[in-house]
Amino acid sequence: MKEQTKILHSIPVDPLTGAISTPIYQTSTFVQDEPGIHKGFDYSRTNNPTRKALEDLIATLENGAQGFAFASGLSAIDAVVKLLSAGDEILAVDDIYGGAFRLFTQVYTRLGITVKFCDTTNAENVFNQISEKTKLVWVESPTNPTLKISDIEAIAKIAKANGSLLCVDNTFASPVSQKPIHLGADIVVHSATKYLGGHSDLISGLVITKNDALGEKIKFIQNASGAVLAPFDSWLVIRGIETLDLRVKQHAENAYKVARFLSSNPFIKNVYFPGLSSHANFEIARKQMKYPGGIVSFDLVQDDKNRAKSIATHTAYFKLAESLGGVKSLLCIPAEMTHKSIPAEIRNQNGVTDSLIRLSIGLEDADDLIADLEQAINFAFSTENQPIKSLKEFYVTK
Ligand SMILES: *Cc1c(COP(=O)(O)O)cnc(C)c1O
Repeated sequence: MKEQTKILHSIPVDPLTGAISTPIYQTSTFVQDEPGIHKGFDYSRTNNPTRKALEDLIATLENGAQGFAFASGLSAIDAVVKLLSAGDEILAVDDIYGGAFRLFTQVYTRLGITVKFCDTTNAENVFNQISEKTKLVWVESPTNPTLKISDIEAIAKIAKANGSLLCVDNTFASPVSQKPIHLGADIVVHSATKYLGGHSDLISGLVITKNDALGEKIKFIQNASGAVLAPFDSWLVIRGIETLDLRVKQHAENAYKVARFLSSNPFIKNVYFPGLSSHANFEIARKQMKYPGGIVSFDLVQDDKNRAKSIATHTAYFKLAESLGGVKSLLCIPAEMTHKSIPAEIRNQNGVTDSLIRLSIGLEDADDLIADLEQAINFAFSTENQPIKSLKEFYVTK
């Protein structure tokens, strides 16, 4: 069975009613025949049929043994970290999602779990930094917003030889593009808020484990901590996943066209997109990803913050907002928004300059998206839009 068929047919028809769409079991509890004798469900924090349908679907899609649905991407990440104990160490990608950075350094460090960061785009750095204490290696690929790619297979071998678990945050790639478990990872997490939901209408997270032993541990934590996904939102994520392959394929095609356009524009300095041969990790991306993704980032000549702001506020179809992965195009300026809390020096080292703009390419026609960006860039660089250097100049122009 090909993947798209598997996505659409791995959820069985509802056995009770024949409903082709998984029913939303909007209930907290389930009536029991005798104490402890029930139809497999007793309380919706522990298990719910709609959530279970999603959990089984994502396990299938990621080639894992078990899947788990959480109230957000961060609560999914939180459940994985709870596998560790005080004294253990996490070795994480340095270009990590800001929310995961905050959770690791401001919550778990306080509870005795230490965290080290390294540039995982070179697997040798992982080899050099991993230690006896390292119980968890944490990789994101591609990263946000400069789309760095790490060699998951190489890192998995290093983690395994050290007896550490490897968890991959697969949010930016999505499971139709990249299968970390197939590449050797033990655990995969997603912010289903992004491509899996796909319509910018919910917050959700998923964990998938390679084997049942890890699955039982995550199941225990999910029930014990309780940050579960509601039945209605589980249903929405299932509906999103049904079109995932089609959407991600089109996001990538549009993104490629936009990236090509930006690369040829004289006002643009760097374009970050793993599908361009100019990308630093192009070869690894090609090896481990089916589609290069739908995110394109770029910065401007002279790193001009004001012009970047002008572009970000003069597009018609690209809406200025955080988040990504939805059907409608979004853009943001990470230095001012998602990455504002990171010191400027570190940001600049990671390529997150003041003028860097991140695009989440939607499913509008690519020609319209390119025209939209072109007019906004031209406006930002037009002579009428030169940034004024003093107030005197302001009076003169009046
Ligand atoms: C958004 C995101 C998260 C956090 O997910 P939420 O659903 O917002 O809690 C984690 N990792 C990555 C890569 C993300 O983009």
